[in-house]
Amino acid sequence: MSLARQSVSALRALLVKGEIKPSDILDDLFAEVGSREKDIGAFLSLDPGRIRAAADLADLSRPLGGIPIAFKDNINVLGDPCTCGSRFLAENYRSPYDAGVTRRLRYSGAVFFGRTNLDEFAMGSATENSALQKTNNPAAPGHIPGGSSGGSAAAVAASFVPAALGSDTGGSIRQPASHCGVVGMKPSYGRVSRYGLVAFASSLDQIGPLTRTVEDAALILQCIAGHDPLDSTSLPVEVPDYSVDLKKGVRGLRIGIPREYFADGLDPAVRAATEAAIQHLQEQGAEVIEITLPHTEYAVATYYIIAPAEASSNLSRFDGVRYGHRASQPADILSLYQRSREEGFGPEVKRRIILGTYVLSSGYYDAYYNKAQKVRTLIRRDFENAFTQVDAIVSPVAPSPARKMGECTNPLEDYLADVCTIPVNLAGLPAISVPLPVAGLPIGLQIITPHLQEALMLRIAHAVETR
Ligand code: GLN
Repeated sequence: MSLARQSVSALRALLVKGEIKPSDILDDLFAEVGSREKDIGAFLSLDPGRIRAAADLADLSRPLGGIPIAFKDNINVLGDPCTCGSRFLAENYRSPYDAGVTRRLRYSGAVFFGRTNLDEFAMGSATENSALQKTNNPAAPGHIPGGSSGGSAAAVAASFVPAALGSDTGGSIRQPASHCGVVGMKPSYGRVSRYGLVAFASSLDQIGPLTRTVEDAALILQCIAGHDPLDSTSLPVEVPDYSVDLKKGVRGLRIGIPREYFADGLDPAVRAATEAAIQHLQEQGAEVIEITLPHTEYAVATYYIIAPAEASSNLSRFDGVRYGHRASQPADILSLYQRSREEGFGPEVKRRIILGTYVLSSGYYDAYYNKAQKVRTLIRRDFENAFTQVDAIVSPVAPSPARKMGECTNPLEDYLADVCTIPVNLAGLPAISVPLPVAGLPIGLQIITPHLQEALMLRIAHAVETR
């Protein structure tokens, strides 16, 4: 079998035994990229010469020594481009520093592969909001790969790379993983440093891995998790060993099925695949319990107030003075700001900035932003109540499989499809998407556990995967 189709753990075993070298892995990956990347469009930049040079220097004694990993193009790697899928940063920005996860992956011996496409500033669910290129779904050509980490999911699904990093603010790791048939994990808020991730909505953003197996997700989480004093929201708590309980199975675990996530609009194929997975968990000895998360219906509206509010503030730094695009020959400083932003941002980013500025403006702040914060608390409490009855919650990731490219004309349709992933970010919980065995378009199962209980989440995910 080509090394390009192997998991991180399988590649590590071969490297450690001395049966292969990091350059052998690259030979197979570059062969795949060379033959299919023109049809997929996963990468915004890729420098084979530098990747090969880095692989030759990889320290194989480290946990990810010699393993190529792709980065979503909103995570800073010193000296690399970091376009965020935006014209604003595509022209001339180079990262002046490493993100927290970048440092940890360097220390772990990983070989930094290409930089992957995304919706502009991670705002979207299809990667169609990238200002730079389209990305096709390798598992379902002509369909979206999901988003916003669509390039990362596509790169793993296409066997261009065994693992990639993504970011998840409202589902952007889990939903593309589900649509492309790979594993995608969003860690608990505070588990992984956000330092050097270009901020979209700071109270929701988390970085996490996209991989081919649950075991690989655990391996990478092990390397990127932990306290970072450069991110004030990063938690100063111990990182457990994510491999010890991985294969313990689900016997005796109580699994909650939230009735609100199985509403009428659910696609029949998603419903069938999800129910089959739940039955499998039951057969493995888990106790399945119906639960309620009563404020679910308010989650999308709440998120689409809070996330744009934070984005409008975060994106004010793109003013044409310090970073990226600058309008030529502005009449004065105000027109420098206005024209740089007018020319640099795409329509979805502008929509979010306008929405966010509106809900924060005096007179509307209490009606919208403050109200949304209160509802966010109710959504978090729904989960806290549920976790007094169950150990974990299982649900669909998205109400339907990947739609066709170019099929969505009203952004609201995509917003509404975030219904199963958004509540998890509002509550700061960990969640994972695991591919289910289906004949048609890929479908993932979402597993949600209490805050910092990634080990339990991975253990259940492993049981689903090894079906
Ligand atoms: N689809 C959601 C949005 O457009 C989530 C994006 C994300 O998680 N980065 O905001």
